[in-house]
Amino acid sequence: MLQAKHKKKLDDLLAVCHKNLRTVNDDLITRAFAMSLEAHKHDLRSSGEPYFGHPYEVAMVLAKEISLDDISVASALLHDVVEDTDITIDMIRKEFGDTIAEIVDGATKISNIFDSHEITQAENYRKLLLSMVNDIRVMIVKFADRLHNMRTLEYLSPEKQQRIAKETLDIYAPFAHRFGLAKIKWELEDLAFKHLYRKEYEEISHGLNSKRREREHYVRKFIVPIENRLRQAGLKFEVEGRPKHFYSIHNKMVKRSKPLDEIYDMFAVRIILFTPDNNECFTVYGIISEIYKPIPERFKNYISIPKKNGYQSLHTTVVGPEGKMVEVQIRTRQMHEIAERGVAAHWYYKENGSQAPLDKELESWINWVREMFDQKQGDGNVSPKELIESFKLNLYQDEIYVFTPKGDLKILPKGATAIDFAFEIHSDVGFHTIGAKVNGRIVPLNTILRSGDQVEVITSKKQTPNYDWEKFAVTHKAKSHIRRFINDEEHKLTAEGKEIWEKKAKKSKLHINDDELTKFIHTKRFDNLQAFFLAIKKEEIDTDVVIAELTDNKQRSDVEVKTEVTTSIFNKFVDTARSFTNGISILGTKGDMLYSYAKCCSPIPGDDIVGYVTTGEGIKIHRRNCRNVQSMLNNSEERIVLVSWPESNAGDFIAGVRISGSDRSGLLNDVTNAISNFNNTNIRGVTINTKDSLFDGQFIMYVKDIAHLNGIIERLKRIKSITKVERFDE
Ligand code: MN
Repeated sequence: MLQAKHKKKLDDLLAVCHKNLRTVNDDLITRAFAMSLEAHKHDLRSSGEPYFGHPYEVAMVLAKEISLDDISVASALLHDVVEDTDITIDMIRKEFGDTIAEIVDGATKISNIFDSHEITQAENYRKLLLSMVNDIRVMIVKFADRLHNMRTLEYLSPEKQQRIAKETLDIYAPFAHRFGLAKIKWELEDLAFKHLYRKEYEEISHGLNSKRREREHYVRKFIVPIENRLRQAGLKFEVEGRPKHFYSIHNKMVKRSKPLDEIYDMFAVRIILFTPDNNECFTVYGIISEIYKPIPERFKNYISIPKKNGYQSLHTTVVGPEGKMVEVQIRTRQMHEIAERGVAAHWYYKENGSQAPLDKELESWINWVREMFDQKQGDGNVSPKELIESFKLNLYQDEIYVFTPKGDLKILPKGATAIDFAFEIHSDVGFHTIGAKVNGRIVPLNTILRSGDQVEVITSKKQTPNYDWEKFAVTHKAKSHIRRFINDEEHKLTAEGKEIWEKKAKKSKLHINDDELTKFIHTKRFDNLQAFFLAIKKEEIDTDVVIAELTDNKQRSDVEVKTEVTTSIFNKFVDTARSFTNGISILGTKGDMLYSYAKCCSPIPGDDIVGYVTTGEGIKIHRRNCRNVQSMLNNSEERIVLVSWPESNAGDFIAGVRISGSDRSGLLNDVTNAISNFNNTNIRGVTINTKDSLFDGQFIMYVKDIAHLNGIIERLKRIKSITKVERFDE
């Protein structure tokens, strides 16, 4: 049970909710009230008052001054519990559901961002905030939170006052402005102005006060004849002397270098009609024009032609008593409500007056708010689902905002990694990246960054781009730099490979033209000569072996015998290798499909493969680079299905290596040691043929990937008296 004083507070809040909101879930607000009260019961504010007073007042601002919905009022009550008390976001989710949990979570995250960084680029900060929130109400709660903090700022230390006031002026006020919360924006600005520029503030405040009497007197004199005539015409209305915003007066004084008197000399009055009938505004305009002489060029009809953002009003300037100019704004109450808090009245114009890029999402949200306000007046209704959907924000969500160690913000596309960040800083940084820290922890370079992360790049002069980077770079900048580097590098290596080839071919007296060589390398699964030369340079193939084979081609019969022997051993190997896996996974099926292996390319586990749906024989599995696959792709692509080898437990696959050379004592021992000492490779089987002091062995082993296998091959090649080492796969 609540104590009497708390019960009274709750009743007050509920009453305000019922007065201002379309629908109110009393139970929801009561439970949020109770949880917040209990959670904060031991905390005090800097003013010495119980902390609960703060979330309570924030909820009041939401109910009374923003009046959006009961969900945001409940979220306001809970907005500080996760940050300041033992309550977790999961507890809130359990008690209040996903929507409120998400709003509270968003509000908490935003507080943390501001606590840990000094604001250097305000505009980017605003985008950062938007990219972090999915629900517009997170921002609305933050505005109310900030407004209450600003209203009670005097209890904090002067340093804190300055920091918070600056943040308010740089971030929250312009932001509230864009969300159409004009009144809140003005109050935030004036409060911030008061703390940041106390002398100027006092000056304006004093200046206005000293003349207030005089001004009020003048406005009365101006308005009384109008009021009389309007009453005679049977109109219901109220008159406002235009609210004064110290900060905007200050800005005008600075911009025009003029004293207060000249800036504030213009009198302004607003007439708000209680009618929903727009035509009455024109009636009022007619009446005023009969009493005071209008200045035609100052007349603005925003009723027939509303501003793009929906702002409606009539503006007229007339010559009042004593020849002074008075601006009069005439609008209905509905128009007034939209102008004050419904729509971003100046969304299309940046603070300095230039055209801001239009944001479709926010624009449609603004339109929706306007409709909601319109319907509040009429009898239309918005379904709760529609209401929720409309709060979903999707602003700047395809971008992320991350900090440099100095606190500068960088904007990257969603999915960007540390390597993108490095190239974003500078291409030189990108090229020499060896690692990255995100929020102080070392992470892999392919780590996907998130809004609010702080990223530090570690560089080394010796580092050059890794080919893998291309796989996870996202930005055009990073991708193109990496690609250019790889191209240059491969170009260089290809030229060197060509040189090696030509030298060796010449030495071996092998005469072969480019056409013949191209034909030959096609049988070795190279697409073109460049790829072949590159492989030579990278020692992915053994040049001597190729030369030997090309030379041998002239003695066809020998080759055929050799091939036959090799083939039968190879088939044995293929069977072993395949038996080691659990068959083939065919994408999109349960695995009961009939399949067989194509003879043309004999795929083995670890090869990149595709399936081809045959008529009658199920699916044939080919290597992806099999030449037959190419023609299938051209002729009957629809029959190609995606298939893969299932991952074995260890993630290993079987590979075979064929080794030959001249036999010597200890050679077998050297070979097996070389294999098993390299990354603890397991040997599964060995077949040795020794004939006429020639050593010829097939080793079957488990490897992790091609790099692992190539490493072993490299090792074996260095063994004394070994002349040939090749992957045993065809
Ligand atoms: Mn707060």
